Amino acid sequence: MKKKYLLTILAILFIILVGIISLLYFKTDVLKHFFEKQETDLPVNQTQMTEEEIKLQEIGYNELEREKIYEYMSEKNQKELLNHPYVDLTDFYEIPNFELKNIDRYLAYQTISHLELQDCVTQVNLNLDKPFYEEIEEIEDPSSITVLVNKYHALPATYEPDLIPIPSFPNLKLREEATYALEKLIAAAKENGSILIPYSTYRSYEYQDGLYQKYLQNDPVDVVDTYSARPGHSEHQTGLAVDIRSEEHWSNLTEKDYAWMKENSYQYGFIIRYTKDNNKITGYKEEPWHIRYIGIEHATKVHELNITYDEYYDLYLTNH
Ligand SMILES: [Zn+2]
Repeated sequence: MKKKYLLTILAILFIILVGIISLLYFKTDVLKHFFEKQETDLPVNQTQMTEEEIKLQEIGYNELEREKIYEYMSEKNQKELLNHPYVDLTDFYEIPNFELKNIDRYLAYQTISHLELQDCVTQVNLNLDKPFYEEIEEIEDPSSITVLVNKYHALPATYEPDLIPIPSFPNLKLREEATYALEKLIAAAKENGSILIPYSTYRSYEYQDGLYQKYLQNDPVDVVDTYSARPGHSEHQTGLAVDIRSEEHWSNLTEKDYAWMKENSYQYGFIIRYTKDNNKITGYKEEPWHIRYIGIEHATKVHELNITYDEYYDLYLTNH
């Protein structure tokens, strides 16, 4: 009887002990959370602002503006803002390819072009507020499958890609990826009843130079520039561009084949680079026959967005 009594007391003591321990544990947890919450709820004051925020405040950005700068602006823009006089960014926060260094050009271009601000930003980033060939950057990564070659971006004169012959057209060479994609595209067109024949693929810098000079003998420079690239500015030098014709034509596609190409070429990684609607941006007349390999993923997006590759490159493939 005595033993049973003792055991009961021990059991009660044990339960009390466990209770106290769990209570203590729980309480400290609650207290901890309580204090943490207190801290985050404190109003923001200068001592909690980062050096950058203080600098932005000194330049003249109010709290809301600073919040938006951190929410929307790229790190590059955030950094540049610290060394730039105050500018009203209201219209630019949600423009993903905004570049602080171009802000005056955006505003000037909008006045003359009357374009939507987003289009102004993209076009200025592409230097379209300046005449073609006026400001030329040499391409740093010419062997990239997604390289942008246009009237403002030049391939080095010495650049020669690794090429392989196209199995069914062994006189013509392309980059390996483009070669196999082209074979697939031609096979798919054939199933649809069209015989497509590539007739110009890789062209060296020197070859393009000769071609351009030859055209200059017949047409003034501003006309030649609408149908021929200057050396270094031709996509053909990348080994990723193909001029392709229908069996019925010597250098163009039939309407039927062009329609098929517009609807299907992206599935093989190709885009039609120079269309009727985009000549203001590309600077070239419509070229139904000129296709460019950029890979299926990007070609699909360009097709869906229905924009030029130049715009796509600035919007989706450039760090701003
Ligand atoms: Zn071409």
